[in-house]
This record gives sequence, C-alpha cells and structure tokens, in this order.
Amino acid sequence: MANYNVKSLKAEEFINHEEILDTLAYADANKENWELIDSLIKKAAARKGLTHREASVLLACEDKERIETIYALARQIKKDFYGNRIVMFAPLYLSNYCVNGCTYCPYHMQNKCISRKKLSQEEIVKEVTALQDMGHKRLALEAGEHPTMNPIEYILESIKTIYSIQHKNGAIRRVNVNIAATTVENYRKLKEAGIGTYILFQETYHKESYEQLHPTGPKSDYAYHTEAMDRAMEGGIDDVGLGVLFGLELYRYELAGLLMHAEHLEAVHGVGPHTISVPRLKRADDINPDDFDNGISDEIFEKLIALIRISVPYTGMIISTRESAAVRARALELGVSQISGASRTSVGGYCEPEPEDETTEQFDVSDKRTLDEVVRWLMELGFIPSFCTACYREGRTGDRFMSLLKAGEIQNCCHPNALMTLKEFLMDYASPETKALGEKVIEAELQNIPKEKVRQIAKDNLEKIEMGIRDFRF
Ligand code: SAM
Repeated sequence: MANYNVKSLKAEEFINHEEILDTLAYADANKENWELIDSLIKKAAARKGLTHREASVLLACEDKERIETIYALARQIKKDFYGNRIVMFAPLYLSNYCVNGCTYCPYHMQNKCISRKKLSQEEIVKEVTALQDMGHKRLALEAGEHPTMNPIEYILESIKTIYSIQHKNGAIRRVNVNIAATTVENYRKLKEAGIGTYILFQETYHKESYEQLHPTGPKSDYAYHTEAMDRAMEGGIDDVGLGVLFGLELYRYELAGLLMHAEHLEAVHGVGPHTISVPRLKRADDINPDDFDNGISDEIFEKLIALIRISVPYTGMIISTRESAAVRARALELGVSQISGASRTSVGGYCEPEPEDETTEQFDVSDKRTLDEVVRWLMELGFIPSFCTACYREGRTGDRFMSLLKAGEIQNCCHPNALMTLKEFLMDYASPETKALGEKVIEAELQNIPKEKVRQIAKDNLEKIEMGIRDFRF
C-alpha cells in the first residue's frame, strides 16, 4: 500500500495494485461482519456515498436479506437524485480505422475480415439527419484510433458539421465524445468545439491484464490511458465519463479500481466523474466473448449497478444496447439514468443497413427496438424519457452541475425540461400510440414540478411547443 496516493497524478499510485489487493482481502475478511455491513448500509442511506473499500465489502457480502436492502436503497437513491427521468442518446460511429491491437475489439488492426470505413462530412450529414428524424438530440461520437485516418482535425470537423445541421425541427444539442486517450492540447480543442462529456472506458484497471489485452498500438500504454481524464480536465473539460468493460478481468477488482478513479478525480479536481458506463463484453466479428474468462452473470451485473449507484449517488450511469430490454429494465430501476435507443454500431449504419456479407459493426446489439418503441416502453415502465441537454447549454457542467444536484435544486430544472423535450418528441416524431400515452404522462407529471411558478412557465411553454415553437429550457 506504500505507493497508494489518491491525489497523485501517476496512474500506478492512484490506482494502486497493492491497495486493490488489500481491499479485496479486507472485503473477504469482513463479508460476514454484520455490524460493519449494517453500518455501511446506514452510511449509504445517509447519502454519504461509499469508498472503494466499503463498496467492496458490500460486493463480497452474500447475505440475501442485506443484498435486498442494498437494492431497495439503490432504487430509493436513484429516485431521490434522478426522479423518474431517463436521458436518451445515440452513438454515432465515425470511423473504424484503428491502429491498436485490443484483443477483445473487432476494430483491432490485425482483423482483416472487417470492412474499414470512415464517414465523409457529407455522409455525417446523412447519418445525423437520419438520427434527427428519429428524434435524437444527444449523440456519443465513437471512433477507432488512427493518427492519419481519424486525426483530431477530423473529429473536430465532424463535431462542427454535426452542430451545424438544422433539419426540420431537429438539432443535435449535445455531442459527447468517446475517442482514444489524447493530449491536453487536443482535449482543449475538443472543449473549444463544444463537446459535452468526454468518455473513455478504462477497459480494465488491472495493469498486467491491460497490457496483455492491449499488446500493440498507442493504447497499450496503461499509464497514458489511465491518466487521460486528468489531462482532459487540465484541458478544460468539466464532464468526464468512466467505465470498465466487464468480462475482461475479475469484477471485484474492477469495482475497486473504478471507485478509486472516481475518488481520485474528486480529490484532485474537486469534481467526480459525470457518468459511469457499464458495458459488458459482447460477441463481435472475430471476437468470441467465451474466449475471455471473466464474464459476469446478470445477477452480479445488477449488484454492481446497485453498488455504483449507492457509492457515487451524484454520478449519472449509462447503459447501452449491448444489453437486452429485460436487463435494461432492471438496470434502470437500480441506478441507470441514461440509455441509448435504436443504436447502430456500424459505420454509416443509420442510413444503410449492413449487407449480409460485410461487417463494420463494433459489437452485436441486443436491444434492436426503434426509438419510438423504447420511448413508449420507458413510459409504460413509469419513466419519463428526456431529450434534455439544457444543463450543458446553460453552463451547468462540472462542479456547477454537482452543487445544484447536491442542493436538490436540479428537480426544478430537470423535471420541466424533461417534460418539454418529451413534448417536442411527441409532436415531431412519435407514433400515434406513443403520442397518446405521452400526453397523459406529461399531464400527470406536471404536478410533480415542486415550484408553482416553474410549473406555470412549463405549462405555457408546453402550449407553445404544441403551436410549433421549439427549444424552451430552464
Ligand atoms: N477507440 C476509442 C478507445 O479506444 O477508447 C473509442 C472506443 S470504442 C469505439 C468504444 C468502446 O467499445 C471501447 O472502449 C470498448 O470498451 C468497447 N468495446 C470494444 N469491443 C467490444 C466488444 N466486443 N463488446 C462490447 N464492447 C466492446
């Protein structure tokens, strides 16, 4: 543990291997220490969050009754912090050219079967128009790492193109970016281009496994990858999104590493991660998940989601269409606050379906429903699908967002904004069935806006949206 230092800027010190091993041993030693476990549940119930050590003890605990208590608490914390709103987004794959050798990813350089493709700016316009026609307002850009095919200039130009597209009532109002670790200078450029969250999955926090899984290419440098979020924040990016790819390493190791990373960002930059994603390894071209030993069951997956929820209550959680509708429903209840809908993981997939004999996909999608179907399903489950991007556009990012959230004030912005953006969706894109249900939901949910004055403004704005005027926000 000698080298563990949460404030250090060196990867091996803030994600210290010895500290994780000690944490796991401590968790094993205390997994039936009921007094400690009950005190940790009590601490989490007081909305104080949990450290990596504390969460690891609860992860090791196998007592059914206590696990149910943890789930109930996760549900309650989810409700208290995020209400019943679920933020919607879609990934946009720009290019699958890649110089890395990641053994679990079909983009890896040695894969000669996958057809390589990079969208031109004209193709991006077509893809984004198709996404706008579904009703999307928020995108996550995805690209392989390739210094000549996908340099930062290409990413910046693509962001500019995306923000410039005005099609009918549509507009992409927030572009999040999931590209390889880069320099402070490039992060500064991304910030200037107006990105929302910078997302980078750690894949695994276990250095030795990381090096085996990333044998070649720039991504093979564990320290450079792990320290990326510090560079992003140095470059002025307020909102960063963490994640591990579950299935690569032991999940207990990953939960400890993930929470240590969150603790590090909070300690050094005064603000923790904006989001945590929970991807699981999937079948893909040239990739068989069974070749990796650490796949996790749905039960463990749910437990991880619940524990992340109660450990970092202020961090949004994201789940993608890698998961089925059934798994997503359970994840939404236990902690997830953002989901993708109608995703295509192939380059150019929103305009042209993939030909049978050709594949550019990154992984198999489990949830293949349309956005309209996902929106209706969410409302049937009691959620409000939200297309809101207001916080980012009003400058409520980083610690400004967190302090509003911590003061409980976000209810007065998020709830009306969610209803107004849902109304826009219903007016512009929804099927008659979804629209009919949505109108009822909005009517009922208006009553849950705490301040009367805000409720009245929301009502007025909803009427204006009905008349064809768009983009109101608090
Ligand atoms: N090139 C960037 C990078 O290296 O971080 C962008 C990432 S890639 C387009 C997005 C994410 O997909 C990766 O970070 C990885 O976690 C995930 N991914 C790769 N192969 C996968 C697979 N077979 N199943 C599920 N997710 C996968």
